[in-house]
Amino acid sequence: MGSVFPRLLSPLELGHVTLRNRVVMGSMHTGLEEREWHIDRLAAYFAERARGGVGLIVTGGYAPNREGWLSAFGAAMLTEADAQRHRRITTAVHEAGGKIAMQILHGGRFSHIPNNVSASAVASPLSPFEPRALTEQEIESTIADYARCAQLAERAGYDGIEVMGGEGWLICQFLAPCTNIRTDRWGGSAANRRRFALDIVRRIRAAVSDDFFIMFRMSMAELVENGQTFEEIVELAKDLEAAGVDALNTLIGWHESRVPISATLVPRAAFVEYTAKLKAHVSIPVCASYRINMPEVAEEILARGDADLVSLARPLLADPEWVNKAAESRVDEINTCIACNQACLDHSFLDQTVSCLVNPRACHETLLQLLPTRRAKRVAVVGAGPAGLSAAIGLAERGHHVELFEADDRIGGQFDLARRIPGKEEFNESIRYFHRKLELTGVRVHVNTRVTAEQLAAGNWDEVVLATGVRPRIPDILGIDHPMVLSYPELIRSDKPVGKRVAVIGAGGIGFDVSEFLAVDGQRALTLEEWQAEWGITYDDRAPGQLTTRRPSPAVRDVTMLQRKSGPFGRSLGTTTGWIHRAALEAKGVKQIGGVNYERIDDRGLHISFGNNREDRRVIDVDTVIVCAGQESVRDLEDQLETLGIRAHVIGGAEEAKELDAKRAISQGTRLAAEI
Ligand code: FAD
Ligand code: NAP
Ligand code: SF4
Repeated sequence: MGSVFPRLLSPLELGHVTLRNRVVMGSMHTGLEEREWHIDRLAAYFAERARGGVGLIVTGGYAPNREGWLSAFGAAMLTEADAQRHRRITTAVHEAGGKIAMQILHGGRFSHIPNNVSASAVASPLSPFEPRALTEQEIESTIADYARCAQLAERAGYDGIEVMGGEGWLICQFLAPCTNIRTDRWGGSAANRRRFALDIVRRIRAAVSDDFFIMFRMSMAELVENGQTFEEIVELAKDLEAAGVDALNTLIGWHESRVPISATLVPRAAFVEYTAKLKAHVSIPVCASYRINMPEVAEEILARGDADLVSLARPLLADPEWVNKAAESRVDEINTCIACNQACLDHSFLDQTVSCLVNPRACHETLLQLLPTRRAKRVAVVGAGPAGLSAAIGLAERGHHVELFEADDRIGGQFDLARRIPGKEEFNESIRYFHRKLELTGVRVHVNTRVTAEQLAAGNWDEVVLATGVRPRIPDILGIDHPMVLSYPELIRSDKPVGKRVAVIGAGGIGFDVSEFLAVDGQRALTLEEWQAEWGITYDDRAPGQLTTRRPSPAVRDVTMLQRKSGPFGRSLGTTTGWIHRAALEAKGVKQIGGVNYERIDDRGLHISFGNNREDRRVIDVDTVIVCAGQESVRDLEDQLETLGIRAHVIGGAEEAKELDAKRAISQGTRLAAEI
């Protein structure tokens, strides 16, 4: 029988190298690249993806010289010894049947080092250090460093290299007029700005063998003020092909862009139109990227002829077996990347080792293993939220006999609420994945079953896992039981009427999600066109940076968010996504009032005051008040079990409600599963 994804799984010639399919694992910085002693961990991480069927893996970025370090003593490929060490990576990948390219990345003005350099001395919002403009002589030696770095990569056994020429890194800083204000032959006209990129490619081509491919990664839309126009980007692509590049990989935006690129609210394959437009101008393979997380999306892109390859990065953190599952028609078994950024990009920006919210084994392959158990036990897991679900499937995968008890009529816990927030539709995929894994691993699931301590005691289990999660906190405010007050689960899951003027008590992650839910009325995600208008993206080939005026759709309700603390709203939100939520609510005109005391709720609305003496008072005239004031652990069963002489394992929100998120819940569930 033919494959469901014939194009995705067909081979491709990349230079003189044959890739077994069209799936590229895009470059991701994992935090393991910098330290020599992590090389075997990196090798295991890549080899697991090669075994999972990926056609081509691209490593995280390695600098060609010390000025290109992303931070002090950052990842670099500088010496013969470096090349010999990297053989452990390339051998592991080749033994697993894969191909691997090393990415060369020079940080330029993004580098967090005091002696950072750029095309011009234009400071970056992402580095505390202002860069120095490279002299012409230094430009020449930097180009030579790129060529030497590529030679070393070839000696390390890589099949090719990817030159990072997008996202705002050094090469991009030469290409874009906003960061290149030089007046010599490296600046000014578009042809002059391209010279650095093209000379790098020509010098690399001359330095490596014909069998070694060069892929160049470039931004299709820079999404920054005074960035390159699409016309200039097309000219660059044509010149790169002529200079000896074997394939083009595409990127969107710069790290400092203020348009969401990879977050969960970005529609799937949102930017592929740019790639398709570019592909029409070159004859070398072109790779599409960004928010391609499921095989059907990838196949459609290839079938339409929009690209020759697809680059998936985070989806392969989430599921190393993504390609094999697609090839074997096991798509419903894919652990889908939900584009939350919480354990990957957020970790990277905080200098922590990258992992994945839905797959805590990512980048921890040698440290966290679900090995077959020697003594199968009978285990009861109570609560089918993310913590209980990951514990149950992990334990069953290891060979234990697991039964899962859930009070609700469905699995998911708080994730069942999260998935209903507009822009968080990807969370449905996690629930689908958990359902399928429960089936495959043979976990017996009992929904509509609120278990008691006595029932658990009667079950005579070898182990009991309490993953009973959290319940919404009901703050002690006069009138909290007024009919106009709803908790966030009541708002999201019931069809109780909600007025046009709404106050939201609490401004954590859930307060933000709920405010978006209220402002867009919505059970409906934006269409691609609405989303582009919302964020000011244009397809005008002559618009610098492809930006235009934002045209957000108006809010359907008048929403006011409140918090007791003073200072900015949304401090607890994710490092790489918090600004998106703040910008989205600002565009919808959501009001934010901080430093409040809640006085009471009555028919007139929500009464608040400010300061210690509470003299400054106001009434927020609203029809509905939604409470998002955090949560409390549900762990009553623990004490009751203890009195019956049963010691349970307590995980997720049941263990600690403070700063709980699904990342911790799933990680705790998986780690416990590995230990029992
Ligand atoms: P829960 O999800 O609370 O699950 C506990 C389960 O136990 C429930 O299903 C409950 O019915 C069941 N239970 C309780 N007592 C019993 C009993 N006696 N018998 C049987 N069953 C019982 N987190 C993120 O990381 N990223 C996000 O973007 C994100 N967005 C969110 C958006 C919203 C709107 C909400 C509400 C939450 C969001 N979260 C997010 C938080 C995340 O969903 C929680 O941190 C996570 O669900 C906690 O997992 P848990 O398994 O510990 O608990
Ligand atoms: P949270 O982030 O702890 O926020 C709770 C909010 O309630 C705060 O704004 C707090 O602000 C307020 N509050 C606390 N006690 C209160 C009281 N007694 N009376 C009135 N207000 C009170 O919790 P959450 O918003 O419920 O989110 C739960 C978890 O889910 C979080 O850990 C979050 O990371 C995760 N989550 C993440 C995302 C995401 O996008 N990454 C989205 C949703 C949820 P004041 O104390 O200043 O009033
Ligand atoms: Fe995807 Fe979130 Fe995992 Fe990152 S942490 S790979 S965004 S699911």
